Amino acid sequence: MYAVSMSSRVYHLLYASDAYTLCGFKVLDLKMSDTNKPARLHQVPTIPSNRSLCKQCEKMAERRTRARSPLMQMIDKPEELNGHTG
Ligand SMILES: [Zn+2]
Repeated sequence: MYAVSMSSRVYHLLYASDAYTLCGFKVLDLKMSDTNKPARLHQVPTIPSNRSLCKQCEKMAERRTRARSPLMQMIDKPEELNGHTG
């Protein structure tokens, strides 16, 4: 699932089981008519074609992908560890 808000041109990624975006926003159900929140998010089943991915969500998604793969973490070590020859 994804989330979009009326006041932004980006879309957010959602945690699988929680109603929160990866960048930490609470996602409200459309049924809840809380008009006091100016930038409320609502869920959408597909990526909106005219929006770009939220930068914070993008970073978080990268971290989560790397965390699943120990091999990627090994590759991701700084080159300084190998190239330091005094
Ligand atoms: Zn986001």
